[in-house]
Amino acid sequence: MQNQLIFNRQLIQKYDTAGPRYTSYPTALEINDSFTQADFIKHAALSNKGGGPLSLYFHLPFCDTVCFYCGCNKIITKNRAHTAPYLANLYKELALKAACIDTSRPVTQLHWGGGTPTFISKQQMQELMQKTREHFHLTDDADISIEIDPREASAETIVLLRELGFNRISLGIQDFDPFVQKAVNRIQSEAETLAIIHAARQQQFRSISVDLIYGLPLQTLSSFNTTLDKIIAADPDRISLFNYAHLPELFKSQRQINREQLPSAEQKLSILQLSIIKLTAAGYRYIGMDHFAKPDDELSQAQLQNRLHRNFQGYATHAECDLLGFGISAIGQVGDAYAQNVKTLQEYDALLQQNKLPLMRGLQLTAEDKLRRWIITRLICDFELDTQQVATLSGQPFNTQFAEENSALKAMAKEGLIEIQQHRLRVTAQGRLLVRNICMIFDQYRQSSPQQAFSKTI
Ligand code: SF4
Repeated sequence: MQNQLIFNRQLIQKYDTAGPRYTSYPTALEINDSFTQADFIKHAALSNKGGGPLSLYFHLPFCDTVCFYCGCNKIITKNRAHTAPYLANLYKELALKAACIDTSRPVTQLHWGGGTPTFISKQQMQELMQKTREHFHLTDDADISIEIDPREASAETIVLLRELGFNRISLGIQDFDPFVQKAVNRIQSEAETLAIIHAARQQQFRSISVDLIYGLPLQTLSSFNTTLDKIIAADPDRISLFNYAHLPELFKSQRQINREQLPSAEQKLSILQLSIIKLTAAGYRYIGMDHFAKPDDELSQAQLQNRLHRNFQGYATHAECDLLGFGISAIGQVGDAYAQNVKTLQEYDALLQQNKLPLMRGLQLTAEDKLRRWIITRLICDFELDTQQVATLSGQPFNTQFAEENSALKAMAKEGLIEIQQHRLRVTAQGRLLVRNICMIFDQYRQSSPQQAFSKTI
């Protein structure tokens, strides 16, 4: 696959719509209340028969202060005493889920997300990793990653994390501009961010990733240009560049953002265009869906070898893992089912006190869901789709099974987003930024999904 990306403003404006990020298909919106504990146990037993590798996700929800743009499920508190009962429940959940799963299955991926994972104390971090290792078998080469808020970490924290086995970190930066930082209530000095990057490099983390957001209040082309220069100089392995989605009806903290300070849609596109030009000129490859990586980074390599994958945490190099989620709101995938935990501390505590899995809802995928998930994953990861392979998987000719989708695809081909070949769909260089829109053609649920639940595709 060639790494080409063309920014076509006209086309982007034409396809200016809201849509899912497809970290799962069907999306989390389709997960429903009819899924029970017994369903989880049944699917876990079925997945044990396959015996494939596991991925573990831990949601550590506490943060010291609120960032106004945040759409994560977090708990803002200065009181560190909240962490002990939460972790006690997390250990109960570890034991309950380990009892459903064949724990000899190798864990090849583990991630701590949040919230702010390093809000917990160093001793608690040690304890959590120790408990995890008591129940599960982490392979020596497992990808063990953590989200870091540089305001809540020091060089010492990074040393400890490396000792605990972490080998990938992802740093929240968003923007270095002090006015933007003030407008979003995330004051984070360049010095503290760079100190963490330096420490991670010294500790030989396999990959250092940074998160940026465009579309924040008071951002301008010139201010973001300066941020990009600083990021490029810091030389991370991966860069995520997210589009800020202003959805104050859904996310309470966003109501504190002054709408009038937000850049216009035109300005946002210019910022995106500039970012693409600068990052690709600096040697980063566009992986897709907001992600850039150096050519020698594992994500780039996996994409070049058509083995890139996508799961609830975004792009991944490990395909076919079952994902177990721990902590409030954590989502997992076991065999052909998705399962999500309850979202509040109270519900989480109440269920675990009764020794029940803290599940809120789930979804059993149909054969049709799985086929469409495969199609969407391949398009997002490879920018192409082998329609012959789709026919082999489904037992029906592609054009017959997807007749309706075909006419939408033809319209996109006319506009230059895709090329339709005999047995292949290829996303063009100018279609890559709109890959979400292309995937939406194959999303059977998109008509019934409320538009306001999703961010703009660009
Ligand atoms: S962006 Fe991160 S640090 Fe800020 S409130 Fe959200 S979860 Fe907490």
